[in-house]
Amino acid sequence: MKTNTSYTPVIGLEVHVELNTKSKMFCGCANNWFGEKPNTHTCPVCLGLPGALPVPNKKAIESCIKIGLALNCTIPLISKFDRKNYFYPDLAKGYQISQFDQPFAIDGSLKLKVKNEKLKTEYEKTIRIRRAHMEEDTGKLMHETVNGEHVSLIDFNRSGVPLVEIVTEPDFESAEEVKEYLQKLQQIVRYLGVSNADMEKGEMRLEPNISLRSNTTNIKYSISNDQLPNYKVEVKNINSFSFVEKAIEYEVKRQAEILESGKIPAQETRGWDEDKHMTISQRSKEEAADYRYFPEPDIPPFVWNEKFIAELRATLPELPDEKKSRFIKEYDLSLYNAELLTRTKELADYFEEAVRVSSTVIPAQAGIQDNGSPIKSGMTIDPTKIANTIINKKIDIEKMLPAELIKQIKSTQVEDTMSSVDLEKIAQEVLSENEKSVLDYKAGKTNALMFLVGQVMKKVAGKAKAGTVRQMLEDLLK
Ligand SMILES: [Zn+2]
Repeated sequence: MKTNTSYTPVIGLEVHVELNTKSKMFCGCANNWFGEKPNTHTCPVCLGLPGALPVPNKKAIESCIKIGLALNCTIPLISKFDRKNYFYPDLAKGYQISQFDQPFAIDGSLKLKVKNEKLKTEYEKTIRIRRAHMEEDTGKLMHETVNGEHVSLIDFNRSGVPLVEIVTEPDFESAEEVKEYLQKLQQIVRYLGVSNADMEKGEMRLEPNISLRSNTTNIKYSISNDQLPNYKVEVKNINSFSFVEKAIEYEVKRQAEILESGKIPAQETRGWDEDKHMTISQRSKEEAADYRYFPEPDIPPFVWNEKFIAELRATLPELPDEKKSRFIKEYDLSLYNAELLTRTKELADYFEEAVRVSSTVIPAQAGIQDNGSPIKSGMTIDPTKIANTIINKKIDIEKMLPAELIKQIKSTQVEDTMSSVDLEKIAQEVLSENEKSVLDYKAGKTNALMFLVGQVMKKVAGKAKAGTVRQMLEDLLK
């Protein structure tokens, strides 16, 4: 299939994020369903038994609003739950409690910096967020073989787990933009601490909807550039960033071919087949009317006041973009270092703790730094040096405390405490003991130098760095 430049992809995204609250959305059952014995975290509410009444989880609703606030959404002061009616075996009640026309958060935006790998350029783009609403997860079907028979079993541990659905406007024009958005969204919910957003556990599930807009006017369906195409293909429940990229690329090619042949792609829901690397038609797309939404009669509407929203806003942590800018300003870090260190909140906190420790603990011993200037007592370590050490040495922040790291950096800084006079004495000794290697080196065998460095290192017993020794030997052998 060839790529086609006569079309621009029009892509919107629906992302489901499972919240990490202690209990489920409408009952007291434990929320940690993953890996548990089937049907052990259930009760009449999440099993959908007649007469069982839902009680909304306050923490989950606050988390949903926090996500909305972090995505620059407006939080309407009135909100409600609705019933979304459909039949599927994993939905015992016959309806899902969701939000239809009055979600908790609307009209937000997220700014992206997108890298174009091919053109080696970077551009900014703002994606509009249509809404972030609260709903409950369904049970899980397991297709297995029992006594030689193919059967479908249902596990209701996941039924009623709090889910936030974040819906964008169809603002994406490429798979790269979608991937950038998803990474940033995952980073934000993790910073907020409201979800682990672990893709492998299904805690973050992706549904792109894709259509193509014609860049030329001679194609019948495309009326004008600001109008959206009159069809939409939705790809359901993808659980990896790379699959979503592949599914989009596949759909763009598939749809372009259909349009080229003069037809319009069918409005439908498709699934991504990981093995065949293609999307496969599942069903023709439902309209909202098919779900017969109506207000959930067992849960009264929510009425917030400005004070409540302001209080929630005040609990938001510093988010990745703000933190990145502050790191650059406050610690004079490069953009590259700041970006890497703020990738997770834990890593950013680790770095800042290390900086704090480096400027408060043990007065450093007198000695010589890497750059040759003497270490002053109590001198702090350049934050860039700390950043570089964390990044280059791939420090495992689970295993090494910030204070240990600083001790290590300081100890390498004082490694060169052996005075250069003493080091030169030892180096001269080694040179006179190894005349053959000296001649080899002078004859152009550079390996000989490494041997000599090794001999000196043995004698200085860790009091000088290899780089310093090498430099010393090179100078002496000039
Ligand atoms: Zn329950």
